[in-house]
Amino acid sequence: MALHLHEPSATEDVVAPAHRHPGTDPVPRLRLAPDGMAADDARMLVEDELMLDGNSRLNLATFVTTWMEPQARELMDACLDKNMIDKDEYPQTAELERRCVNILSELWHAAPGADATGCSTTGSSEACMLGGLALKWRWRERRQAAGLDASRPNLVMGANVQVCWEKFCRYWDVEARCVPVTAEAPYLTAEGAAAHCDENTIGVVAILGSTFEGSYEPVAEIAAALDALAAGGGPDVPIHVDGASGGFIAPFVDPELVWDFRLPRVQSINASGHKYGLVYPGIGWVVWREPAALPEELVFKVDYLGGEMPTFALNFSRPGAQVAAQYYTFVRLGFEGFRRVQQGSRDVATALAAKIAELGPFALVSDGSHLPVFAFRLKDDVTGYSVYDVSEHIRARGWIIPAYRMPEGIHDMAVLRICVRSGFTHDLARILVEDLGRVVERLEAHGSSVPADDSRSSFHH
Ligand SMILES: *Cc1c(COP(=O)(O)O)cnc(C)c1O
Repeated sequence: MALHLHEPSATEDVVAPAHRHPGTDPVPRLRLAPDGMAADDARMLVEDELMLDGNSRLNLATFVTTWMEPQARELMDACLDKNMIDKDEYPQTAELERRCVNILSELWHAAPGADATGCSTTGSSEACMLGGLALKWRWRERRQAAGLDASRPNLVMGANVQVCWEKFCRYWDVEARCVPVTAEAPYLTAEGAAAHCDENTIGVVAILGSTFEGSYEPVAEIAAALDALAAGGGPDVPIHVDGASGGFIAPFVDPELVWDFRLPRVQSINASGHKYGLVYPGIGWVVWREPAALPEELVFKVDYLGGEMPTFALNFSRPGAQVAAQYYTFVRLGFEGFRRVQQGSRDVATALAAKIAELGPFALVSDGSHLPVFAFRLKDDVTGYSVYDVSEHIRARGWIIPAYRMPEGIHDMAVLRICVRSGFTHDLARILVEDLGRVVERLEAHGSSVPADDSRSSFHH
């Protein structure tokens, strides 16, 4: 049936640029208009819509990069037309991707020598899917080779995992074994991990930097507990480290922390280039410890772009600009530059956490000393208002600080979370503390305006 585009009726919801050329008519909000408008008008219309979005640099809810140097922007602009998948047409973009994979593989202590195994993705979510799929395939191979049932795979992880792991389990038919967390350890512990593994466990996910409150999970302890499990005749369970944030933090500011391929049990690691990899949104990475950790059946060889190219990804076409930008951050900063940036964020985070604790009503759930991210709650004796009030009131100054409930096990604890990123200075932190102080004073005087069990506030990552 043909689609008939008609002029908007008198009652239809329409939009129009604030100032428009004569002859530019309003267009329907939810339908394609019969005809277009001048480029300037279209641009103004879209810009005006976006004006009400928050100021990204005051958005303390997100882990994602909100500031890059102008040179990086220009570089990305110049690459906007490059499709990452066309490796034959854009061989140098492919080469930059390969260099980034090698750089990360070395930073995460994979065996030196051979070409590193890994690829770029749209973000950690896709990277986690690929890491999880490799675990699932390898588990199934082992089961089938031993003549055992391979129909009921499970994945063990803390209840604090990022939603991408629940998606992985649902999309790929794997049982999600979420280990409840506690107030003392709001993340996966070694005992918790080992106790939930059985012969159908495809792997354990350890998070380097919990989304909920920023602390590192004890990867080495988890590996040791799984070593003991295997040594005692139990299942031999591999680990995938979700280093979405920490993969770009720990190598630079916690070099002595052993969490990566130095642990033989760690088979794969993901990280978000667009979080602490310091690149604008649209890039993640996954790296395997060695070629054997990535089953060959998962790698497709395509030749319809000219030249035979192996690909392992959920998407086909994808922007190439972020890859160029990631390589830019590596050559621009080097190891010492990354260390300085990440240490700077940690210094701001730990100082800010301490100042917030001094305000009085808040108790820290974490202190910014792992990821430069921390969560805090209201002390038990504060009853006149909730963290949702604080989140709502601080928004009046432009700050976006999410309030949400902690995961299963401590679901009755509601917290606020701050992600400190490059570009968030000590000076901005000082202004934020002053603003928080004023919000608290007002709430103590006038009480709550938001229901205590507010579920409106969404959880941003
Ligand atoms: C952000 C995050 C993800 C998802 O990463 P995207 O890059 O946003 O897709 C996965 N795991 C953890 C721990 C995260 O913090």
